[in-house]
Amino acid sequence: MKQSITILGSTGSIGLSTLDIIARHPAKYKVFALTANKNIDVLEQQCLQWQPLFAVMCDERSAGQLKQRLHNKALSTVVLSGVSGLAAVASDVATDCVVAAIVGAAGLVPTLAAAKKGKRVLLANKEALVMSGQLFMDTVRHNQAQLLPVDSEHNAIFQCLPDNCDNAMPGKSNKGVKKLLLTASGGPFRTLPVDDLHMVTPAQAVAHPNWNMGKKISVDSATMMNKGLELIEAHWLFGVALEDIEVVIHPQSIVHSMVTYNDGSVLAQLGNPDMRTPIANALAWPERIESGVLPLDIFNIARLEFERPDLNRFPCLRLCYAAIKTGGTASIVLNAANEVAVDAFLATRIAFTSIACVVEETLSRASISADISSLASILAADKTARAIAEKYISTCQV
Ligand code: NAD
Ligand code: MG
Repeated sequence: MKQSITILGSTGSIGLSTLDIIARHPAKYKVFALTANKNIDVLEQQCLQWQPLFAVMCDERSAGQLKQRLHNKALSTVVLSGVSGLAAVASDVATDCVVAAIVGAAGLVPTLAAAKKGKRVLLANKEALVMSGQLFMDTVRHNQAQLLPVDSEHNAIFQCLPDNCDNAMPGKSNKGVKKLLLTASGGPFRTLPVDDLHMVTPAQAVAHPNWNMGKKISVDSATMMNKGLELIEAHWLFGVALEDIEVVIHPQSIVHSMVTYNDGSVLAQLGNPDMRTPIANALAWPERIESGVLPLDIFNIARLEFERPDLNRFPCLRLCYAAIKTGGTASIVLNAANEVAVDAFLATRIAFTSIACVVEETLSRASISADISSLASILAADKTARAIAEKYISTCQV
């Protein structure tokens, strides 16, 4: 039986890599639904190639145009729109596996909808878990969904944890696991003089030294907000306390993360920096499939370096530690403020160094609530934080 796959965010970097792997295994997978926000041209091409049952464009106008184009080409793919369309395909009884590859908070509702229906969920959309942590993990458990990490570090940890064959998310439990070591490349500005950081441009920030990714995560990698979000992601995914997760700068991006054990063992997962490895691992788990990734030339790796992160250079990482400690809606506020700030930076409205200022100021202006038990309260906290961040950007000189 072929697995029927829904890709939320099929036109993005993770979406394209996922389709590349699926194309290599036509006997194993079929495409049920593809979704995007506004990228009509790419989604149209994907529909022609994959002939999914459904295509969803979050943006209503784009959905109307796609419908017309597919109709003109006599394609029977049903076009839906909006968040309700995304949630509908993610929870459809006919889809087995949902790849959560939308960027940002926009992915939360459909990803949660998939978990509620007990789907196999391949999680790239870390922001969804950062926002909804406990609620998301509870939903996964109560509905026997299978949650498999696609983020390369979390997938590496997943591969290095014990007994992940019996249980999709083993947690730290008492199997001798001591610590998770979360590796980070340090991004394009790891060695730039701190005094020059305020001048960097969006083009410089999105030019990641090792990975080819969407714009938002590339900027997050440059500020190291990405690693902070990943700390929160690892905390929820693996049920590990913050003190037991350590961020390690590893500029070569060959070791994708490590797990240390009480007998002194350190297990690491290595590979070329190509997202098709973790995607293929999650798609096929517990089996392994060919991914198209070039074999790692171990003789060609001159050096593997590891260093501690500098929280003065990367204040966003410090803010993430603080947000997890505060708890409640703090991580939601942090994530929302960061999304608004990154958009403003990419639109050249604010300086690179102002991203952290916007996040810090929003965290101090927002009232942090303990109520994170419902989707409604999470979405409300997200909305309020966006308004605060936007107001700060438009009224202050940041
Ligand atoms: P991207 O910008 O390349 O693609 C984002 C996708 O989401 C596109 O298909 C876009 O149409 C869709 N989208 C954007 N806004 C939307 C909205 N409001 N409603 C519905 N759909 C919307 O992003 P990406 O780099 O592929 O990253 C996707 C997610 O995966 C992010 O959460 C990112 O942190 C995570 N991730 C990415 C990588 C990577 O290498 N790219 C690695 C690890 C984790
Ligand atoms: Mg990552």
